[in-house]
Amino acid sequence: MSEVRFEGDPDPIFTAPVRTSPKRLVVRVPAGAITGRLRLLTPGGAKAMTRQSLRVADASQVLSGFRLRGSKLRPRKAFFDQPAPIRLRYRFDAPGRTRVRVQVVRAKGTRVIRAYRKSQLPFARHSQTWNALERDGDVANDGLYRFRVGAAGESSAVAGKMKLYGFKFPVRGPHSYGGHLQEFGAPRSGGRRHQGQDVYAGCGTRLEAARGGRVQARAYDPVLYGHFVVIDIRKSSADHMYSHMPSSSPFGRGDRVRTGQRIGAVGKTGNARTTPCHLHFEIWPKGWRNGSPIDPEPALRRWDGWS
Ligand SMILES: [Zn+2]
Repeated sequence: MSEVRFEGDPDPIFTAPVRTSPKRLVVRVPAGAITGRLRLLTPGGAKAMTRQSLRVADASQVLSGFRLRGSKLRPRKAFFDQPAPIRLRYRFDAPGRTRVRVQVVRAKGTRVIRAYRKSQLPFARHSQTWNALERDGDVANDGLYRFRVGAAGESSAVAGKMKLYGFKFPVRGPHSYGGHLQEFGAPRSGGRRHQGQDVYAGCGTRLEAARGGRVQARAYDPVLYGHFVVIDIRKSSADHMYSHMPSSSPFGRGDRVRTGQRIGAVGKTGNARTTPCHLHFEIWPKGWRNGSPIDPEPALRRWDGWS
């Protein structure tokens, strides 16, 4: 673009752009321009007209402060460490470049979990992501959060709401928990005790990481666990163990896994070969084979409730 034509009274006013790029054109509104659409002209004679008209306001109509113009927060339900970021997109009106403050606030109460401050231009698109961590680096609690946007030091407006969960239920299909023998601590052959909880589901049901982390082990144990995978979960000393998968997990030792990524399927390898397909799941609070596992059923049922 070489020239921009503004409506004027009585004649149009031509001016050169300050800056152009394939997607953006910056031009200073010349004195004398009036409300109307802009025409863009190239040296080759091509012309284009803006769809929206430029509104030239008089001094009494000029914005005096910050106003949130539009916003979108996605996703509405997020799991900590999921692949897609939690992202707020927003625009605002203001008389000029503004020091903007974005806050993540617990819906219950007013505690500010995270705050971001940036100098930004009005009318442009802006975005802010949140990694679901509090200021001190801990995972934010499960629950409803609001994002607030405003000029720093002034009041702010709610720009979006979302629910956050620290874990996702790993069995992604119809399932059941079985009976007493599938519970943690149930007796097993050779004086062993059941070290996890079984979740029955159709063979091949998608299995996802309840929480992301680093794969600590991927192996095949023909006697007990069949194909299994152990994940050293993020922001916790605990490890999760998933077993009886029909085949090896696509994630190998040392791989980074994110919450909700497919780590395998429900199967019946190992000592599950004579039982219906199920996930045998263990939680080791101090790490796999370090200390003892705990009963994972209460956690599984909680995650099941919201996933
Ligand atoms: Zn089991």
